[in-house]
Amino acid sequence: MLLVVDDQLAIRQLLAEALGGEHEVVLAANGHEAIGVVRENRPDLILLDLKMPGLSGLETLREINKFAPGIPVILITAYGEVSDAEEAERMGVRCLIIKPFDLNEVRAAVRRVLEGFRFDFCS
Ligand SMILES: [Mg+2]
Repeated sequence: MLLVVDDQLAIRQLLAEALGGEHEVVLAANGHEAIGVVRENRPDLILLDLKMPGLSGLETLREINKFAPGIPVILITAYGEVSDAEEAERMGVRCLIIKPFDLNEVRAAVRRVLEGFRFDFCS
């Protein structure tokens, strides 16, 4: 199961459409919803928006890592938003997708991360 976390409805819908053909996709609109989903059912991969009201993407990931460490994460960001890429990698971020993204890039990134691909810029 893939968990998509983004505060923007249009982005959640876009990612659900792009990935829903090949994967079961669960959507969360904020960090608290995401934490609730992971408590119920551990995802194979999380696509996580960095900038959200309330808990940021990395704050959300920090909470998730306390009870479900090791889930691979694709972080969705704008350029320059990740100040400490090494810390992000330690937290499970395998790849950064830079907005605006191309859906083919997202599909390719998901495939690569599920195959065990390590940290890099995916787009
Ligand atoms: Mg956002």
